Amino acid sequence: MSLDVKLAATQTLLTEIATKHPDAVLANSYGAEDMVLTDLIARLALPLQVFSLDTGRLPVETYTLMQQVAERYPAVPVTVYFPQTGATEAYVNTHGINGFYHSVELRKSCCQIRKIEPLKRALAGKSAWITGLRREQSPTRQDLGNQEFDADNGLMKFNPLIEWTEAEVWEYIRSNDVPYNALHDQRYPSIGCAPCTRSITVGEDVRAGRWWWENPESKECGLHIKASPLKRPA
Ligand code: SF4
Repeated sequence: MSLDVKLAATQTLLTEIATKHPDAVLANSYGAEDMVLTDLIARLALPLQVFSLDTGRLPVETYTLMQQVAERYPAVPVTVYFPQTGATEAYVNTHGINGFYHSVELRKSCCQIRKIEPLKRALAGKSAWITGLRREQSPTRQDLGNQEFDADNGLMKFNPLIEWTEAEVWEYIRSNDVPYNALHDQRYPSIGCAPCTRSITVGEDVRAGRWWWENPESKECGLHIKASPLKRPA
């Protein structure tokens, strides 16, 4: 399937979402895929909302991109959610500022405080959310479809780029002069919090730079729990 065909399908799906789920929100983590979706929402002038989670531990390059995106896409404002102050203070004062390196449990509890709880607030009352997930990103994403019911959060979840390859994402970004995170040019294919993201070397898996001290099976922060695949409506 060519990029043109995938692009048309993505545009169609985004338009359908805007029609059937006018309260749908795009989760923008400022990765390359989210930049493609933000650009498409702006070009199609779709009335979709966008939010981002500022964990408080993001790389400075991500904050720079946040400002660039705000200036480039004034019609697509991003609502930013932050962790709860009390929970963050309690975690850091109990486990240390980098306590997440000590065990999978402490890593997941940090993600719970800095990502999952704010995500729940961002999705509260919504009927659908949109992500930039792609199937080839991770072994844990092989069964994903372009839409599914997110039972954990109680709403529809759409993945309009599920079929796209990494090369196709970058072809779109280059062709349309879409802003992107400067860390991508330093061999960071996947960017999250600064202390949990590193660059990769040639031949490494694209997710190798995320939580690199853990087994591949545990390398999800909980934002994208496996949901129930659904067929796209006719
Ligand atoms: Fe905490 Fe790392 Fe998860 Fe960010 S990615 S919330 S710093 S454990």
